[in-house]
Amino acid sequence: MEIEILRSPTDDDWSRCLFLARVTQGKDTMTVPSVEWRRKILNAEHSPIRTLMYTIAMWQIPYFVSVHLVRHKFGVEHYVKSQRSNPDRGTERQDALVNHVMDLNVQSLINISRKRLCFKADPVTRSVMELIKQKIEDIDPLTASFLEPECIYRRGCHEFQSCGYYEQRSQNERSL
Ligand SMILES: [Zn+2]
Repeated sequence: MEIEILRSPTDDDWSRCLFLARVTQGKDTMTVPSVEWRRKILNAEHSPIRTLMYTIAMWQIPYFVSVHLVRHKFGVEHYVKSQRSNPDRGTERQDALVNHVMDLNVQSLINISRKRLCFKADPVTRSVMELIKQKIEDIDPLTASFLEPECIYRRGCHEFQSCGYYEQRSQNERSL
């Protein structure tokens, strides 16, 4: 499988984000926001971050991973194409490979990461999400730093059975 980031927020997109955040204050200048401001609005998760768009292509991922991802439906559009031309859809194998493109905003990316980076998520789906995070880290380390499992946001895993990641991480931090 291969993950490719086809689109990520540009300085123009960030200027627009800043502009939208300031509309309520009656300011109408278009300037590129500082890294610090970007960090603040990502941390606050205010609505203008829903205008920052990513397009992420996942080439040749297992069909069942694609099925997990399409369950996320807020702020994301999915485009999925299966490879083979099997007329009998009923025999579609769970591990058949598909191409899946997600066009999504940064809030949606944060939300999907919360679920899919948890160690209670399916391990293959989790590894795909981890690869996406790595690719984003290369081009946009600030946004990548907000892609964390829910256990980090909520100070403990809230799945039916805890994945144990938070407890492990706090233990490691204590022993440093
Ligand atoms: Zn967890």
